Amino acid sequence: MTGIISKAYAHAKKEYPYECCGFLIGSISQGEEPAIIDYVPADNEDLIGNRAKHFYIDPLKFYELEKKYAEQGLEIIGIVHSHPDAEAIPSSEDERNMIPGLLYLIIEISNDAHISKRCWKKDLNTMQISETAYSIN
Ligand SMILES: [Zn+2]
Repeated sequence: MTGIISKAYAHAKKEYPYECCGFLIGSISQGEEPAIIDYVPADNEDLIGNRAKHFYIDPLKFYELEKKYAEQGLEIIGIVHSHPDAEAIPSSEDERNMIPGLLYLIIEISNDAHISKRCWKKDLNTMQISETAYSIN
Protein backbone atom coordinates (compact mmCIF):
# COMPACT_ATOMS: atom_id res chain seq x y z
CA MET A 1 0.00 0.00 0.00
CA THR A 2 1.39 3.38 -0.94
CA GLY A 3 0.88 6.65 0.85
CA ILE A 4 -2.07 7.62 -1.31
CA ILE A 5 -4.34 4.77 -0.31
CA SER A 6 -3.09 4.85 3.28
CA LYS A 7 -4.12 8.49 3.46
CA ALA A 8 -7.57 7.80 1.99
CA TYR A 9 -8.12 4.80 4.30
CA ALA A 10 -7.03 6.84 7.34
CA HIS A 11 -9.52 9.54 6.36
CA ALA A 12 -12.33 6.98 5.93
CA LYS A 13 -11.56 5.56 9.39
CA LYS A 14 -11.48 8.99 10.99
CA GLU A 15 -14.86 9.99 9.53
CA TYR A 16 -16.62 6.66 10.23
CA PRO A 17 -19.63 6.21 10.66
CA TYR A 18 -19.92 9.15 8.26
CA GLU A 19 -18.81 9.22 4.65
CA CYS A 20 -15.44 10.75 3.95
CA CYS A 21 -14.66 12.37 0.62
CA GLY A 22 -11.64 13.72 -1.18
CA PHE A 23 -9.73 14.08 -4.42
CA LEU A 24 -7.17 12.08 -6.34
CA ILE A 25 -4.62 14.43 -7.85
CA GLY A 26 -2.42 13.46 -10.74
CA SER A 27 -1.82 13.69 -14.43
CA ILE A 28 -3.36 12.03 -17.46
CA SER A 29 -1.47 11.62 -20.68
CA GLN A 30 -3.13 10.35 -23.82
CA GLY A 31 -3.27 6.57 -24.05
CA GLU A 32 -1.63 5.99 -20.70
CA GLU A 33 -2.91 5.06 -17.30
CA PRO A 34 -3.38 8.09 -15.06
CA ALA A 35 -0.58 8.74 -12.63
CA ILE A 36 -1.90 9.57 -9.19
CA ILE A 37 0.39 11.55 -6.99
CA ASP A 38 -1.74 12.49 -3.98
CA TYR A 39 -4.98 12.21 -2.02
CA VAL A 40 -6.43 15.49 -0.81
CA PRO A 41 -9.19 15.17 1.79
CA ALA A 42 -12.28 17.36 1.50
CA ASP A 43 -15.02 18.18 4.00
CA ASN A 44 -18.28 16.32 3.60
CA GLU A 45 -20.59 19.30 3.53
CA ASP A 46 -23.82 17.37 3.37
CA LEU A 47 -26.36 17.92 6.14
CA ILE A 48 -25.10 16.35 9.37
CA GLY A 49 -27.98 13.88 9.53
CA ASN A 50 -27.24 12.69 6.01
CA ARG A 51 -23.50 12.23 6.24
CA ALA A 52 -23.68 8.50 6.95
CA LYS A 53 -25.23 7.89 3.54
CA HIS A 54 -24.30 10.89 1.40
CA PHE A 55 -21.48 13.23 0.64
CA TYR A 56 -21.35 16.69 -0.83
CA ILE A 57 -18.25 18.64 -1.84
CA ASP A 58 -18.50 22.39 -2.30
CA PRO A 59 -17.96 23.08 -6.05
CA LEU A 60 -15.71 25.98 -5.04
CA LYS A 61 -13.30 23.41 -3.58
CA PHE A 62 -13.05 21.76 -7.03
CA TYR A 63 -12.35 25.12 -8.60
CA GLU A 64 -9.69 26.10 -6.06
CA LEU A 65 -7.88 22.77 -6.31
CA GLU A 66 -7.99 22.73 -10.12
CA LYS A 67 -6.47 26.19 -10.14
CA LYS A 68 -3.81 25.33 -7.56
CA TYR A 69 -2.67 22.14 -9.31
CA ALA A 70 -2.91 23.45 -12.88
CA GLU A 71 0.14 25.56 -12.12
CA GLN A 72 2.06 22.31 -11.52
CA GLY A 73 0.65 20.60 -14.60
CA LEU A 74 -1.62 18.44 -12.45
CA GLU A 75 -5.37 18.04 -12.20
CA ILE A 76 -8.16 16.33 -10.30
CA ILE A 77 -8.38 12.87 -11.82
CA GLY A 78 -10.69 11.23 -9.35
CA ILE A 79 -13.10 11.54 -6.47
CA VAL A 80 -12.89 9.34 -3.40
CA HIS A 81 -15.67 8.67 -0.94
CA SER A 82 -16.45 6.00 1.62
CA HIS A 83 -19.46 3.76 2.14
CA PRO A 84 -19.73 3.08 5.87
CA ASP A 85 -21.16 -0.43 6.34
CA ALA A 86 -22.09 -0.69 2.66
CA GLU A 87 -20.57 -2.22 -0.45
CA ALA A 88 -18.17 -0.20 -2.57
CA ILE A 89 -20.66 0.00 -5.42
CA PRO A 90 -22.01 3.35 -6.71
CA SER A 91 -25.46 4.22 -5.34
CA SER A 92 -28.05 5.61 -7.76
CA GLU A 93 -27.19 9.05 -6.40
CA ASP A 94 -23.48 8.39 -7.05
CA GLU A 95 -24.31 7.31 -10.60
CA ARG A 96 -26.26 10.49 -11.27
CA ASN A 97 -23.52 12.73 -9.89
CA MET A 98 -20.52 11.03 -11.52
CA ILE A 99 -18.52 13.30 -13.80
CA PRO A 100 -17.66 11.33 -16.96
CA GLY A 101 -13.98 10.49 -17.31
CA LEU A 102 -13.06 10.85 -13.63
CA LEU A 103 -12.08 7.88 -11.48
CA TYR A 104 -14.46 7.18 -8.60
CA LEU A 105 -12.77 5.33 -5.81
CA ILE A 106 -15.25 3.98 -3.27
CA ILE A 107 -14.00 2.71 0.08
CA GLU A 108 -16.06 0.15 1.94
CA ILE A 109 -15.53 0.40 5.69
CA SER A 110 -17.23 -1.47 8.51
CA ASN A 111 -17.24 -1.04 12.26
CA ASP A 112 -14.89 -4.00 12.69
CA ALA A 113 -12.35 -1.95 10.69
CA HIS A 114 -12.62 -4.16 7.60
CA ILE A 115 -11.68 -1.89 4.72
CA SER A 116 -11.54 -2.38 0.95
CA LYS A 117 -11.91 -0.39 -2.25
CA ARG A 118 -13.27 -0.51 -5.78
CA CYS A 119 -12.83 1.97 -8.59
CA TRP A 120 -15.47 3.07 -11.11
CA LYS A 121 -15.74 5.32 -14.12
CA LYS A 122 -18.51 6.80 -16.27
CA ASP A 123 -17.55 6.56 -19.92
CA LEU A 124 -17.21 9.92 -21.69
CA ASN A 125 -19.07 8.74 -24.81
CA THR A 126 -21.55 6.11 -23.68
CA MET A 127 -22.20 7.41 -20.13
CA GLN A 128 -22.07 3.77 -19.03
CA ILE A 129 -20.61 3.12 -15.59
CA SER A 130 -18.19 0.28 -15.18
CA GLU A 131 -15.59 -0.91 -12.73
CA THR A 132 -12.11 0.00 -13.89
CA ALA A 133 -9.24 -2.41 -14.01
CA TYR A 134 -7.06 0.46 -12.89
CA SER A 135 -5.78 -0.25 -9.45
CA ILE A 136 -4.69 2.42 -7.06
CA ASN A 137 -2.20 1.12 -4.59
ZN1 LIG B 1 -21.59 6.58 -2.59
